[in-house]
This record gives sequence, structure tokens and C-alpha cells, in this order.
Amino acid sequence: MKTWIDGELVDNENCLVSVLSHTLHYGTGVFEGIRAYRAGEHVIVFRLMDHLARLEQSANAMGFELKYSEDELREAVIKVLCSNNLRDAYIRPLIFVGPGSLSLSWQSGNNELCTMVAAWKWDSYFDSDCISGISVATGVGRRLISQSGLHQAKVVGTYVNGYAATMAAKAVGADEALLIDEDGCIAEATAANIFMVREGKLCTPTCRAALAGITRDTIVHLARPLGFNVCENDLVVEDLYGADEVFLTGTACEVVPVTKVDGQLVGDGRVGPITQRLYAAYQRAVHSAYSFTSNVIVNRESIAA
Ligand code: PMP
Repeated sequence: MKTWIDGELVDNENCLVSVLSHTLHYGTGVFEGIRAYRAGEHVIVFRLMDHLARLEQSANAMGFELKYSEDELREAVIKVLCSNNLRDAYIRPLIFVGPGSLSLSWQSGNNELCTMVAAWKWDSYFDSDCISGISVATGVGRRLISQSGLHQAKVVGTYVNGYAATMAAKAVGADEALLIDEDGCIAEATAANIFMVREGKLCTPTCRAALAGITRDTIVHLARPLGFNVCENDLVVEDLYGADEVFLTGTACEVVPVTKVDGQLVGDGRVGPITQRLYAAYQRAVHSAYSFTSNVIVNRESIAA
């Protein structure tokens, strides 16, 4: 497999990164998670330009000056897919700080900002058979909010918080953690947003303490023509206990039903009909070239070349 690193495609085993890279020590990097889907003759990189815009916002939030434009990064993504002959794929751009100063404010040192784009086949984000639903635990982690607004950025270091919450969730037998915000409301899962369904109505927490997920936004867009209004509200754990359906959304996990919250069954414990409809609508959207104007379509000849 090859990774694009600062303008070059390099075999993964030859991608050498210094052990003194600033990001390795302090988590000072920003990244994106993107999926590409095979659709007949084409490969659709779903909402790629939205992901690249968010990467730029994350970089800005960290005070990074991007070395590559969104168009250059789009070309890098296409090159990585083509050179690895990938169709259904997960794509990971990462901007990280190289070696030089190891003081936290590296900007005064001579560190370089490095940019890479890797891709691989990653079928399922969760270990368990998530089609039949996963279990989540609350009370195992908090969503940290930073004064500088960094919680709206995909910053490498902030994922340690989600990692610790996932470990705590697994220790109590759940698949995933739900993070609670400073006001005691549900924020999101560790790498996904959350929706609940009650009496036919869809509800999701605001983005006050959650990442503004691109999949969350996709679901809101898809739900309306299906006749569902989505409200954005504060949700507490008790709301989830009384929900008919709960599901998570994220690029990596897509749409995942949640059938247990803190050991209690959601509804009758089976995947609900609205979750199923939205899952199907999501699969249609990611496989259709023109579902979103920010999709990038790669033709089969370039992949095969
Ligand atoms: N919240 C967090 C913390 C995430 O890391 C992700 C994954 N990017 C999401 C939500 C879902 O975002 P998206 O739908 O854009 O992948």
C-alpha cells in the first residue's frame, strides 16, 4: 500500500517519521476520516470537499498554515485511491508537526508541518456485528469543551479522552461510550453523533458539545424528504432510556443501531423501522454520484490505471 506524503506516493513501509515528531509527543495534529464507495463504473468519495473544508477548519483552529490547497488535497486523495487500486475504502488525511522544538508552542522552532493521506479497506468500525445493534454505556466519560473551540476540530490529542471512555465502556460490557457534556446532557459517542427516535420523531443533541458530523448532517438532509423532522435538543440519559430507537452516525461507522443503553433494551431491543429506513437511505446516498455537490467522482479507468 502507498501513502501520499508531502506530494509523493511512498510505500507504507518506507514512510519514515521521526520519533521526535511533535505530534507523537503531544497529539498536535489534525485529521479527517472519509469514505469512498464503489458505484458501478465509478468510485464516489462521499462529501470529500466537505471533509477537506473541515480539515482546513481544524488546521486553522490549531494555528496551522496549510501547505496544500483543498484542490491539491483532493488530487492527493484520488492518487492514493488509484495507486492502491481501492474502490470501497476509508481515507485518512493527517496534518502533523514534525521534529524540531519540543516545547508545546512549536511555532517558535523549526518544525515542519507534514501532510499525509493514507487509505485502506475498513469494512466495519465496531468489532461486534453492528447490523443487529450495539450497546452503549453512559457515565463513563465526559465530552471536554475547550475555550478555544478546539472541540469542533478533529485534533489527534483529543481522541485520548474518547479512548479512555471506550475502555471504561468495555470494562462494563458495552461496545461504546456516550460522552456527557458539562451540563449533564448527552453530547455524542466517542467518534460518532447520536440520534434518538420517540413516537416517530427524530432528535439529536445540538453541536454545542459535539462535533458537527458530516454523517449527522447527511441524515438530517435525508430524513426530511422521508417525512421526518429532526429536532436539535438537549437530551439526557433518561430520554434515551425512554426512546423507541437510538442510532449513531459517523463516516467510519455509517449508521449503527443502538439496541442497549446502560444494559437496558432500547424499545423492544430490535433494530427499529426508522433506523432501517435511514440506514437504507444513507446507503443509497453514498452510492449515488450526485447525492451531494461535494462528492468527488473518480472514474474506473483512473483507478485501474
Ligand atoms: N464525533 C466525533 C468526535 C468524531 O470523531 C466523528 C468522526 N469524524 C463524528 C462525531 C462523526 O463525524 P462524521 O460524520 O463527520 O464522520
